[in-house]
Order: sequence, then C-alpha cells, then structure tokens
Amino acid sequence: MSVENVSVLGSTGSIGKNTLDVISRNRDRFRIVALSAHRNVEELAAQSAAFDARLAVIADTSLETALARALKSRGARAQVMSGDEGLREAAGMDEVDTVMAAIVGAAGLGSSFEAARRGKKILLANKESLVIAGEVFVSEARNNGAVILPVDSEHNAIFQAMPEGFEHGLDEVGVEKIVLTASGGPFRNLPADQLAAVSPEQACNHPNWSMGRKISVDSATLMNKGLEVIEARWLFNARPDQIEVLVHPQSIVHSMVSYRDGSVLAQMGTPDMRTPIAYALAWPGRIEAGVERLNLAQMNDLSFELPDLERFPCLGLAFEAMSEGASAPVALNASNEVAVAAFLDGRIGFAQIPALVREVMEHCSVTAVKTLEDVLEHDRRARQIAQQWVQNFNG
Ligand code: NAD
Ligand code: MG
Repeated sequence: MSVENVSVLGSTGSIGKNTLDVISRNRDRFRIVALSAHRNVEELAAQSAAFDARLAVIADTSLETALARALKSRGARAQVMSGDEGLREAAGMDEVDTVMAAIVGAAGLGSSFEAARRGKKILLANKESLVIAGEVFVSEARNNGAVILPVDSEHNAIFQAMPEGFEHGLDEVGVEKIVLTASGGPFRNLPADQLAAVSPEQACNHPNWSMGRKISVDSATLMNKGLEVIEARWLFNARPDQIEVLVHPQSIVHSMVSYRDGSVLAQMGTPDMRTPIAYALAWPGRIEAGVERLNLAQMNDLSFELPDLERFPCLGLAFEAMSEGASAPVALNASNEVAVAAFLDGRIGFAQIPALVREVMEHCSVTAVKTLEDVLEHDRRARQIAQQWVQNFNG
C-alpha cells in the first residue's frame, strides 16, 4: 500500500492533536507533509520536528521569525510560511494527497476551499466552512474531483450509516431522515433563570467531550448542533425537512439514519474523536485509533429526548437560517463567532449570545451567495454589525 501524504491544518488544536495521535499509530500508511497553527510557535515546532514535516505554517505573520528560530533549535528541516498564503500552500501543495481541515471558525474557509480547488481528499472538521459556503464549497469540490469526508462525529456516524449513491438525493436511496444526536451540553438540566449567569469556565466544561473552547461554548448554547444541521444539509444533499435533532446525554449513539422501511441505522462508540478521524483517514478501510472499546453491558441507560428550543434558542435560529438559505447562515455563523469570543472574554453574558445572533440576522438582508468572495463579503459585514452590538452593549 502506498503512503498517503497528509497536511494537518490546525495541528495544535484538539482535532489536530488527535489526528497526529492516530497517524503516529499508523506511520506505515500516513506521512505528515505540512502542519499549521495560529500562534502556538513552540507546539508547532515540536510537532514539525517529531513528524519531520516539510512545511510549517504559522497563521499569525508576525511570528514567522520566531517559528524559524524554534524549528532551528530543534533541528527540524521544515520550510516556514505564514498567513493566508502559507495556509493555502499547505492545503494545495502538489505532494499533499489528504488535508485535515481542523482550523476553528470561518478562518478555515480559505484553506478548506483551496483544498477543494486542488482536488484533495478533505477530512473536514472545520464545519464553519460548510455552514457559510455550503453550495459554493461543495460544487468547487465536485468540479475539481475533491472528496469531502466528514470528521464531525455526528456526520461521520451518518456517513457510516448511509447507503451508496446518497449524493443523488436521499429519496432516491430510501432514506427518510437524518437524526443528529446532541449531548445537550453542560447546561442540559439548568433552569432558564440560571443560564444567564454561567461563566466561560462552566460553559467549557463539557460532560462527555474534550474540545477547543469555541466549540465547547457552541455545545453549551446548542449552536454547535445548529451548525451541524446546516453542515448535514450540504454533506448529504438533504432537504431541511429531512434533518432532525435528538438530545442523547450519553453521547454513545453518534447519530442515525432512518429509512423508508422503518429501519434505523445508528453508529455507536465511546466519545473519542479519534474514531471519526481514523475512519476519515482510512476510508473505506479501518485502522487502529487507540480508542477504548464500548462496553454496552456496563451501560445501564441510553436515553433520548427532544431539544428545548426555549432555553437554547440558538438551535432554532440555525434552523431558521437553514430554511432562509443564501447568506443567512453566513450572518448566523459570523455573529456567533463574535458573540462566543466576547463571551469568552467576559464582555457579554451567556444569554446575550442568542440575542446578538438574532439581532444580526434581522439586520442583514438575505441575498444570494454565488462565489467565495460573496461569502467573505457577507461575513465581513455581519461581523461589523456584531462588533458594534458588543460595543454598544458594553458602552
Ligand atoms: P481548537 O481551538 O482546539 O484548535 C483550533 C486550531 O486552529 C488550532 O491549531 C489553532 O492554532 C488554529 N487556529 C485558530 N484560529 C486560527 C486562525 N485565525 N487562523 C489559522 N489557524 C487558526 O479547536 P478544535 O476543537 O480542534 O476544533 C477545530 C474545528 O473542528 C472546529 O471547526 C470545530 O467545530 C471542529 N470540531 C471539533 C471537535 C472536537 O472534538 N474538538 C469535534 C467536531 C468538530
Ligand atoms: Mg459534532
């Protein structure tokens, strides 16, 4: 079997490190070619040395010299690049077969898109790219022979339970609906009047998963599930009415596909991102991922309930944005990114996150999105309005 050359974008993050862990268990099959980080020079240099990467990219251009020094002191031979140009190079370079897109937020769009343009196998963790650029991104991939494999655990589960040919439409292959499971986050049982006072530390303390801070807050507001609903629409060519959400606090069933004949196929496993990462890496094969095996005999409860849209309005806002389509999901995502950053900085409270998203969605007129530039323009505008809102809130 030939060795696959992999680029890991966002290698210092939670998904990035898990990816390197899986690859380190399968070094005969995968070779790291390029790695990238936002600002964490030391970790990026250490990873580049450990995996003998050819290219190391630091997104913050002011840290390029620091990275070169850190690589040299470790005797690492990686070439250094920075900024968007560096990220695009890491995603598109000729010798790369497979790109793990694990940057957080819309900041990952440029490199995800470049991987699509260059016809790579894209292991997509960066859900925000699909949420904001959905149709444009999927058609760019299709036109250039790129394959998008979902890393998000729910979508990876659905992908495992889907029949062949789903891309031609779910009706064609007998699929009635997709059911995304949600853990419900750390505040699943918290009364509405206490939600307003929760701290960033409480929000980032997820009961089942250990993840980056942004997605942890998204899980606490249920915006993460909202983004995933839109992500599922584009990954599986589903109509909005074919996607549902069920809260499943144990995070063992990672999602389900319901068929016309009444069958429901679910994928299960311990909540560990190395399983979906390994499946995306090895698809259609299977590799060792270092994951603890599921012990159903020791599990006394697998429960399911409907989400509470009153306490968690972000999920409803995402369904609205999906139905409106066009630029609406761009406004949803951009305002959410600004809101989450402001919440993590202590500038707004937890309850202001949905309030801010709603405000921005009402402010931004919904217009068509035909190109990457359209997406970026809508994203910029929505961020401006959101920043203004945060300033007024504090002023
Ligand atoms: P993280 O915050 O742990 O890591 C993010 C990575 O992106 C880091 O390497 C960071 O250096 C880099 N980065 C951050 N801002 C950047 C910027 N402006 N430009 C370039 N690089 C930047 O995040 P994570 O939890 O690993 O999540 C990454 C993506 O995967 C997100 O889109 C998230 O929604 C998705 N995801 C994560 C998990 C999980 O378990 N962590 C599960 C499903 C999906
Ligand atoms: Mg997920």
